[in-house]
Formats: sequence, C-alpha cells, structure tokens
Amino acid sequence: MSENNTQEKQLKPAPLKKIVAIKGMNDILPPESGKWEWLEGIVRTLMASYAYQNIRTPIVEPTALFVRGLGEVTDIVEKEMYSFEDRLNGDALTLRPESTAGVVRAVVEHNMLYEGGKRLYYMGPMFRHERPQRGRYRQFHQIGAEVLGFNGPEIDAEAILLAYDLWQAIGLKDVRLELNSLGQPPERLAHRAALIAYFEHHMQTLDEEAKRRLYTNPLRILDTKNPAMKELVDAAPKLMDFLGDASLAHFNELRRILDANGVAYTLNPRLVRGMDYYNLTVFEFITHQWGDQGIAICGGGRYDYLIEQVGGKPAPAVGWALGVERVLSLLEEQGAALPKTSPHAYAIIPEAQSLPLVLGCLRQLRALGVNVQMHAGTGESIGSMKNQFKKADLSGAQFALIFGPDELARRQVSVKSLRDGGGAQRTESIDQIESWANSLQSTP
Ligand code: AMP
Repeated sequence: MSENNTQEKQLKPAPLKKIVAIKGMNDILPPESGKWEWLEGIVRTLMASYAYQNIRTPIVEPTALFVRGLGEVTDIVEKEMYSFEDRLNGDALTLRPESTAGVVRAVVEHNMLYEGGKRLYYMGPMFRHERPQRGRYRQFHQIGAEVLGFNGPEIDAEAILLAYDLWQAIGLKDVRLELNSLGQPPERLAHRAALIAYFEHHMQTLDEEAKRRLYTNPLRILDTKNPAMKELVDAAPKLMDFLGDASLAHFNELRRILDANGVAYTLNPRLVRGMDYYNLTVFEFITHQWGDQGIAICGGGRYDYLIEQVGGKPAPAVGWALGVERVLSLLEEQGAALPKTSPHAYAIIPEAQSLPLVLGCLRQLRALGVNVQMHAGTGESIGSMKNQFKKADLSGAQFALIFGPDELARRQVSVKSLRDGGGAQRTESIDQIESWANSLQSTP
C-alpha cells in the first residue's frame, strides 16, 4: 500500500451507524399505507352518516390527566406510559396511551357540552410501553368514537351499532361482541367488599399480583391469566348480582335494541376493561382468529364519572376505540380484497423537450379525476421507451399515455391498455381531454 493510500484511509471517516426506528414503533409504508387510507375513508363516511364529528387533540398531555383519568392502579398508568419531564419548565408530560381522557379534557376545557351533547370521533397514534409482539406495539393507532352528554342506553346501542356497521362496511368477519355491565359506583362498592371478603378467605390460592391488588383493585384479579386461579375466580361473587333496578333496566334496554338489530353478543361477567373510568355498559369486539383465548380489536363502554374526575361539570358519556393494526391484519388474513393504490394511467414521455406541454396535460387529467403517474428519468436521460413501458407496467396502471413527438405534432396522445393482454391502442386529442378522461378510470 502506498503512503498516499494509507493517508487516505486514515482521513476517511468511519461509516456512521444506521439510525433505525424505535422497537415497537413501525413505519407505515406504501403500498400498506393505501390500506390505512382506505379504512380511514370508510370511517369518515360512516361517522358522518351517524353525525359524529372529528376531534383532534394533542399527542402529549399532562401526566396528571392519565393518572387521574385512567386510575393509578391500572396496567397503563403503572407500567406502560411514556412519561417524561419537559426540560424547559419541568412539567410532567406523557405521550397519550389512549384518547378518551384527552377528548374529555378538551370537551371540558372548551365547554363543548354547553349547548347539549356531542358525538365525536378521532383517529391517531397512541403510545404504550408494552412488550412488542404480534398485534401489540409501542406506537399503535386507534380509531375511536366518544359520545358525551347523553345518558340513555340507546346511545350505548348507537355507539355499538356504529362499530358493528364498520365491520360490515369493511367486510370484516368473525368478530364477536362481548357485553357486561359494571353497574354504578355504590353497586361496585358492595361487590368489591364481597370480592375482598371472598379472596381473603382464599388467600393461599392468590398469586403475588393478586395479593398486591387485593385492596387496591380487586376487580382486576378477575382478569387474571393465571390458570391456577381460574377456579377461584370463576366462583367469585358476580357484579351482576349486585346491580340495582336502574342499572339492570339500562342494560336490558341496550340488549333489547341490539337484539332487534340482529347484533349477536355474549354476556361476559368477567369483562372489566383496563381503565378505572367505566360504569354500566362495557363491551369488546373479540376475534378468535389468533387463538382460543380471544383478542380484542375494539373495546369501550360508559364513563359517566370521568368528566367530573377531570374537573368538568358532571356529564354522562360512552365511547369505544379500535386498534387499526389489528383490524387491518385481521382483514388481510381473512383474504379480504383490500384496495390497490395504483394510478389509473402512466405517462410515457419519449422526448424531454415535450415535458412542459405534457405536465400541463397531466394536470388537466388529474383535475378531471384521473390519477396519473408521470415517468421520471434519472440523470441526463429520460429513459428508453422499453424502460418506460417497464416502469408503466410496474406502476400497476391500467393505461399508458404515450406523448410521442409524432402524436404531439398532431396534438394527440396515444392511449394504450396495459392490462388486457392485447394492448389495444387509440389516439385522443390533447385539446379535448375532458371528452376522454373518464375512460381512463374504468377497467378496459
Ligand atoms: P384499549 O384502549 O386498551 O381498550 O384498546 C383498544 C384497542 O386498541 C384494542 O382492542 C386493540 O385493538 C388496540 N390496542 C391496544 N393496545 C395495543 C397495542 N399495544 N398495540 C396494538 N394495538 C393495541
């Protein structure tokens, strides 16, 4: 090695280490992102049909909002929040682990219930520091509906029917609705006392986590995944037996509406949900496609006391949230035909000098609703016709638009079908684009 070479080697900086995304936080890339947009589009239309309006709240909120809202002794608050101190002012902040608390804060802060109830929906990322695994991420996305200011069971029913209609609209199959009532606080208190007494009687069967939760959150013991405690939990006092007339009537009316609308459900007395803020109705839509145990793709319920908890004037509310990642992967595994994101047409441009005219034509086509991808060359060269056709094919477009010099001299463009095997070709006028643009949007 010459001296020069050695020197060069020493001067060359070491390659920088690649920076990669945080574990459990995914990029959503095309064409996958097309499926997200498709789902979001259906959600927007459906929400509008139910007269639910969009709300967008910040991704970062004061930590106290979640501690107070979700409850101190919940998995999310105890172990899963991304909390940090704002270095500039010392504020305690948290990346939202769910959106209900933020929506409630916004509703209170802006006095939104002043003129009556509100029906709202949101879509966006949530953050939980969970162990990443299939269907469980640290940044995941929820679509949610929240109805505030109404207390009737028909609103619970409406919210559930909305989710149910969404499954129909996107063609999702085999999701089962599970339903329970958590009653009202005094009923829960009586049940809680009975539960504590019952578990105290069976201390020797409780595991460490159950013992720790016995006096702070005994209801969550019912949620245990520990098979050794199954029998004990199965025989524990049931909240349903502690419900008063009003709570039972609320639950029964909800069931009557669901029955009349052909929505099948299973009563699950063990369904308690992960947050403390629920009362009366709670529900989950479950899939068994990923195992017998069942995995929730959507969950929600009534939270009549949360608004007060966050400092607002008491008002009833009900809502749900679904996990976008879970819904989309379930759909995909079911073989649903998710939409493609290919353009309708691909513009082939043999000569660079026609680019100004071509770009103008493409804008006209787009204004008429045609999705068209312009061929882009690399470096000096715009690319051979062969190469351009190859790209056109890869793009998935139905048609190639060939802006050749001969065609352009006659103020024409060739339209060639890329998908019917034969490659039928015709010419169209570039001065009357509106008369043929439509034909590019249908399959040849
Ligand atoms: P939750 O707010 O816990 O009731 O969750 C509502 C829905 O969000 C669940 O049914 C899941 O579909 C989804 N979800 C919750 N946590 C995660 C996560 N860590 N990763 C992916 N999806 C999640």
